[in-house]
Amino acid sequence: MTKAVEWTNTAFLEEVERRSGAPVGACLQCHKCSTGCPIAPEMDLLSSQVMRMVQLGLDEETLASKAIWLCASCEACTTRCPMEIDIAGVMDTLRMLAVERKAAAPDERVRTFNDSFLKSVRRHGRVFELGMMTAYKLRTRDFFSDVDKVPAMLAKRKLSFLPHHSSAAAKEVREAFKRADEEEKKR
Ligand code: SF4
Ligand code: SF4
Repeated sequence: MTKAVEWTNTAFLEEVERRSGAPVGACLQCHKCSTGCPIAPEMDLLSSQVMRMVQLGLDEETLASKAIWLCASCEACTTRCPMEIDIAGVMDTLRMLAVERKAAAPDERVRTFNDSFLKSVRRHGRVFELGMMTAYKLRTRDFFSDVDKVPAMLAKRKLSFLPHHSSAAAKEVREAFKRADEEEKKR
């Protein structure tokens, strides 16, 4: 059952604003972000609803939502917001908080996929699709779904057998992860 709204609970809003640097409290509920979101039909909460729930301090409900894990960080919402709220950044912050607080995930596979994706980017500087999918399947023990698509993806060069380590951009991403780890240790 949803807990009663705690109008005086601003701690969650303050934490999300501090960590994301986004003024979530300024959200007008105009819904422009949600109407431009390509993942909205799959989400249990629209991005505007997520902003409202953060304003209301509904931390447990927000962190347990499927929406924060399905968000593709495409920033379509961020570019539409009249209040210049970085909604994609807020979603990133909420995912980090969900991990830190060990919030119950609506579907553990969504979190595992996200985790496998980030580990792949951290290690290779960009996503290594085949390695990421293998890690994901080993962790979920879901070995056979979508295997039939692999030959076609290999033929179209959508999948590579080896990771791409060399580009300068990939190196920059790996360095960014290192800096983030160092910042995290200082907290
Ligand atoms: S960043 Fe996330 S919430 Fe925003 S439009 Fe893209 S998928 Fe939707
Ligand atoms: S576009 Fe901005 S102001 Fe409008 S609902 Fe979304 S976050 Fe709030």
